[in-house]
Amino acid sequence: MSGPISTADAPGADEHEAHVVTPPTLERTSSRATEVGGMAVSRALPKRARRTIGAWCFVDHFQPSDPEVGGGMQVGAHPHIGLQTVTWLVSGEVDHHDDLGVDQRIRPGQLNLMTAGHGVAHAEQSPADATEPVHGAQLWLALPEGARHGAADFEHHSELPQGRCGDLHATVLVGGLGSLTAPAKVHSPLVGVAIAPVDPGMSDAEGTLSLERSFEHGLVVLRGAVAIGDDVIEPGELVYLGQGREELTLRPSAESHMLLLGGEPFEEEPLMWWNFVGRTRAEIEAARTDWQSAAERFGPVASSLERMDAPPLPWAAERNE
Ligand code: MN
Repeated sequence: MSGPISTADAPGADEHEAHVVTPPTLERTSSRATEVGGMAVSRALPKRARRTIGAWCFVDHFQPSDPEVGGGMQVGAHPHIGLQTVTWLVSGEVDHHDDLGVDQRIRPGQLNLMTAGHGVAHAEQSPADATEPVHGAQLWLALPEGARHGAADFEHHSELPQGRCGDLHATVLVGGLGSLTAPAKVHSPLVGVAIAPVDPGMSDAEGTLSLERSFEHGLVVLRGAVAIGDDVIEPGELVYLGQGREELTLRPSAESHMLLLGGEPFEEEPLMWWNFVGRTRAEIEAARTDWQSAAERFGPVASSLERMDAPPLPWAAERNE
């Protein structure tokens, strides 16, 4: 999935606001409604007020605007640098094709993790014979300096560690939760966990997760609702939980499904534009030029969908004013 980051989402390169890590809190922010590849998207990160949670720098919750329409996800070839994409489905199926030659279908309960490093290109498309609406999340992890210039990679995990905490069923996508450790390779201390009631129909589920105290955490609800204390959280918002929590008690509604995201505060300042995560405008411009000129950095992607064109750079317009 492509995440066209615009100036509506993130500050420009000149706005170097310090990342504010707070003690345990419950900060609710409305997600921004947008559209990506024919799908209605609710973008929880980045926001001007909150740009990262650990290395998590992008959180899109996508759903077909009309579940009766079978078009699903139709995202043509596009490039990435400096990040890892994490794809998680609640329902439906998506085919991934990349310039490493990988063709991989993903289904609910599985993980696709693509590492862009210095550069990768991919396309994502719902299978033509799909019967279920596509519903899920696409998330990005900013790569730290030591990993962001490396080789591209792709991992598919059809089985992930699962556990139970009270009435909560937890699936660890990346990182670790208690004794559960996900197999996917990540590059900074972080965690991503999908949580649902152990019995989906259960309406009074409650459970307490043990958290890594040095991490900051956030939560997005993909379906249903969850109560944290007196706050009831539903799809369409991000809850920032702060740093320093040792546990978190959740009371999910029946059929609910949510993602808990956390990590050690990301000390570097990512510069995000379109599908790129860099540090400077020059890096972003170079990646854009390489994509537009079909340079070797981004190889061909086997997809029948149209290759995406990069939009003009916002700061190029500034220069011409
Ligand atoms: Mn993408």
